[in-house]
Amino acid sequence: MKITNHKLVAEASDPVLQQLSTPNQGGTITPQYLIIHYTAGNSFDSSVNWLMNPLAKASAHLVIGRDGKIAQLGPFNKSLWHAGQSRWADLVGLNNYSIGIELDNSGRLTKSGDKYINVSGKVIPASDIVFAKHKHEDTEQAWHNYPQKQMEVLQQISLLLMRNYNLKDVLGHEDIAPFRKADPGPAFPMTSFAAQIIGRSDDSGEIFKTTTEDVNFRSSPAMDATNVLGKLKKGTKVEYISANGGWFNVYIVSASTLREKLGWIHSTMLARA
Ligand SMILES: [Zn+2]
Repeated sequence: MKITNHKLVAEASDPVLQQLSTPNQGGTITPQYLIIHYTAGNSFDSSVNWLMNPLAKASAHLVIGRDGKIAQLGPFNKSLWHAGQSRWADLVGLNNYSIGIELDNSGRLTKSGDKYINVSGKVIPASDIVFAKHKHEDTEQAWHNYPQKQMEVLQQISLLLMRNYNLKDVLGHEDIAPFRKADPGPAFPMTSFAAQIIGRSDDSGEIFKTTTEDVNFRSSPAMDATNVLGKLKKGTKVEYISANGGWFNVYIVSASTLREKLGWIHSTMLARA
């Protein structure tokens, strides 16, 4: 995945990406923050349709589905209408200073008989429910979970956005509009997510280099014939982002056709540079 002209461009083996243009957008901005939301909707498609509807007077730059599929509704350098009345630091009205990502998630759930349902009455399976206390509330409640695939895609995109726009921080809608909004809520691992995204977006990451010729550079942390993005020469320098099992998620920093791409290399093929 990469960003060209303020739009995401999918590459081989990236999740499905749909480019749309919502009428619910304003003028040009220089984004400083990344704001995470939940849709509180029933599905990816219904949320995308609503945010494309002029009656909604609401939108976001991206919607990410529970299976990782992505819709971009407007360029990252335009004001999209996701924050509403909001403030952070000395800024008021964060639509003019931020990129908004909506995650397909039903949000707060309520009990109905022996089931849990969302605001539209849709039953959420027990395996997708998290019981937790919102940081602005006193009691534990039921919330829709965030699946791993959705979180992986969000992380990948967030790292790209942080780097491209040199963003200052990642925040929840609940942080910039605490009296109105509860999203993304306690099911979202904001502390560890923000630490990952911010901590790894600066230029002080650890640098490794490949120790053999033709090292496979992969789109996912697995030995799989279908996920090879390319082959790296011995001595290719990469910046460490995170680990998953024996795999390192890295950025290519050496001159290469894969330079600045994010992908996975098995750690046995890397040594500290
Ligand atoms: Zn929101």
